[in-house]
Amino acid sequence: MLRRTKIVATLGPATDAPGVLEDVIRRGADVVRLNFSHGEADDQRRRVEGVRQAAAAVGKHVAILGDLQGPKIRIERFAGGRAVLNEGEPFSLDADLNAHDGTDKVVGITYRELAKDVQPGDELILGDGQVEMRVTAVVGTRVDCVVTTGGEVSDHKGINRRGGGLSAKALTLKDREDVRLAAELEVDYLAVSFVRQAADVDEARALLSAAGSDARIVAKIERSEAIPRLEEIVRASDAVMVARGDLGVEVGYAQLTGLQKQILQLARGLDRVTITATQMMESMIHSPVPTRAEVSDVANAVLDGSDAVMLSGESAVGKYPARAVEAMAEVIEGAESYLVTRPRGLEAPEGRVRHFDQAIARAVMFTANHMDVEAIVALTESGSTPLWMSRIRSDIPIFAFTRHERTQRRVALYRGVHPVPFDIVHTDPARLYRAISKELLDRGHVKPGDELILTLGELSGVSGGTNTMKLLRVDA
Ligand code: PGA
Ligand code: MN
Repeated sequence: MLRRTKIVATLGPATDAPGVLEDVIRRGADVVRLNFSHGEADDQRRRVEGVRQAAAAVGKHVAILGDLQGPKIRIERFAGGRAVLNEGEPFSLDADLNAHDGTDKVVGITYRELAKDVQPGDELILGDGQVEMRVTAVVGTRVDCVVTTGGEVSDHKGINRRGGGLSAKALTLKDREDVRLAAELEVDYLAVSFVRQAADVDEARALLSAAGSDARIVAKIERSEAIPRLEEIVRASDAVMVARGDLGVEVGYAQLTGLQKQILQLARGLDRVTITATQMMESMIHSPVPTRAEVSDVANAVLDGSDAVMLSGESAVGKYPARAVEAMAEVIEGAESYLVTRPRGLEAPEGRVRHFDQAIARAVMFTANHMDVEAIVALTESGSTPLWMSRIRSDIPIFAFTRHERTQRRVALYRGVHPVPFDIVHTDPARLYRAISKELLDRGHVKPGDELILTLGELSGVSGGTNTMKLLRVDA
C-alpha cells in the first residue's frame, strides 16, 4: 500500500549536516520547506541545490515550498540571549531600546508601530505562549505590561495579541524580496504568512507572476482576522496551511482542534490542498520517539483529510530529523489502514461541475470506488485532473503520468497522488496502453490481470484537455 498523506519537512541547520537531507527524503519527505524567516538568500540557494541533488540521488520528485516570513512582530535580543520573566512583575517592550540590550525588565521590538496598535488591557503573548502579559500603559514608543504568565523567553520571539488585530501589512519589504528569490529558486509552492484577506493572496500572486513564477500559493491561516474571511481566502489560494503555532496564540489553543477540522473541510470542499502544521512531533526535537499525544495528533490530521502534515523544528533544528520523518510516515500508514473508502454508496460530492476534466475526475473516482481497480492513471500536463481526483476520498492510488518535471513536483503535495515521469511517444492506443501497463508493472504497483482506469485528453499535450476515461486490464 502506498502512503497517501504527504510529509512536508522544514529545512534548517539540522538538515544541513552531510547526508541528512538524503536520509530525510528517503524516509518519506515529499515536500521540503524553506523558511525565509531564518537564513540569508545564499543559505536558501545552497539548500535548494542540496535538495535537487539529494532528490536525484534518491530518485524522488520532491516539491519545494518557500515560506515567507510575513509581518511577524518580534522582540529584539537579550543581553544574555534569554530572560526569565516572573508573574506579577512589570515588563516593557520599547522600540527605542538598543536591539541587544534586553533584560528581565525591558526588551526592544522590531515593529515601531506597536505602541500605536495596542491599548491598556490588551493581552500580549510571547513565542508560542511561553509568556503572557497585559498592557498597563503606552508611553511614547514604549508599551508597559505586567507579566500574567511567567516563563523563559529567548531572542527574536514573536509577539501576538490575543484576538489578533495588530495592523502590520501582510507583505513586508523583505517578503517582496523573498518573492523574487522564490521565483529565482523555482520553488513549486509559496506560502504567504499572516494572511488577513483574499487581497493579500492576490498581491502575492501578482508579485510572483511579475517575477516570472507560476508557483502555487499556500495561504497560512494563523490570524484571528482570517477566520471570518476564510472562504474568500481559500478561494484566492491554491492551498491552505493550518498554521497552528500563531493561530493557537491568536485565537486561544482551545479553539484550535475545531478550527482545524473546519478549515480542512472548507478547503477540501472548494478543491483546495491542505497542510496541517506545527508541533506535530515537537518532542522529537529532543527525543527519538514521539509521545502518544503526538502520534494521535498526526493520525487525526490524516483522518481529517489533510493532504500533508508538516514538521517544523523537528526536522529543521531537532536532534533526530530523519527519525522524525520516519515516525511520521509510520503513523500516517497506521492511520490510513483504518480508513475504509470502498464502496462509497451514493456519497458523491455535490454541486455542479464546470470543467471537462473535473467531470471526468468525478466519474473516475465514483467508478474506482465501486470496482476493484488497482490503480488510476492520469496522463496530465498541469496536474489538474489528479488534483480534482484527489479531492474525493479513495484508497486507490492515483498515478500522475507527466513529462513535465514541474508537474511531477507539484503533485507530490496532493493526497494519494504519485508522480511518474512519462512521455507519450505512441499515438497508437494499444501501444500507449502497453507502455503505461509496463511502467506500472516495472514499479511493482500492479500485476497482470489487474484493472486500472486511465484518463487522457484526445488532444494530448493540451493543459486541462482531459476528456476521456478508459477501463483497462493489465496484460501479462
Ligand atoms: P511559522 O508558521 O512556523 O512560520 O510560524 C506556522 C505556524 O504559525 O504554525
Ligand atoms: Mn506562523
